[in-house]
Amino acid sequence: MSYVIPVWNIPSLPVVGTTARFPVRRVFCVGRNYVEHQKEMGGDGREQPFFFAKAPHDVAPVEAGAQGAVHYPPMSSDYHWETEMVVAIGKGGYRISADKGNEHVYGYGIGLDMTRRDLQQVGKDKGRPWTFGKDFDQAAPMGPLTPASSFGHPTKAALKLTVNGQVKQDSNIDQMIWSVPEQIAFLSQHYTLEPGDLIMTGTPSGVGAARVGDDLVATIAGLTELKVRILPPL
Ligand code: MN
Repeated sequence: MSYVIPVWNIPSLPVVGTTARFPVRRVFCVGRNYVEHQKEMGGDGREQPFFFAKAPHDVAPVEAGAQGAVHYPPMSSDYHWETEMVVAIGKGGYRISADKGNEHVYGYGIGLDMTRRDLQQVGKDKGRPWTFGKDFDQAAPMGPLTPASSFGHPTKAALKLTVNGQVKQDSNIDQMIWSVPEQIAFLSQHYTLEPGDLIMTGTPSGVGAARVGDDLVATIAGLTELKVRILPPL
């Protein structure tokens, strides 16, 4: 196969315990999957979650033990963190039942669903897509995946984000409204899931605005921590 312009690398994530990488096909994201986050965003905590997407190009992989770095994005002055567990799909499927959902998971990691909250708000106000709020260069810093073959399928694990050493998000993945298998079941009604797809599973409360120079450290018990510094805009 030859191409008329140079071909880029497939976006990929490191994997704990191997030098081989996980190739990223699509990035699905769950919105409002924690009650306390629904409330801080102005909801009543009784909404059904929903999905949106980021482009695979947005993924900013951070290697194990490294501090990642992303530039403060253009066209925003309200750039928010959202700490989320990332689910990596290893086996595709269509109309997967929730009780079989875990069989489709390759592994788990930590990601930041970085958000231009001001541009997202324009979308909400005008009934327009969230694309500019959620889908931009480096909008998805992600750390290494831990394979389910060694880790199992977590249903309870402390999730934390510190910014410059101060705790900003402090919850547990057991607070998700839709569990991971339920997300897989719902999503696979609308898409044929494929190996390489990622799901960002939603953020708990405590989202807030990042500033240039901030050091973000996201942890989920049992997974490799994710460290990211916010660099000046390009
Ligand atoms: Mn999110």
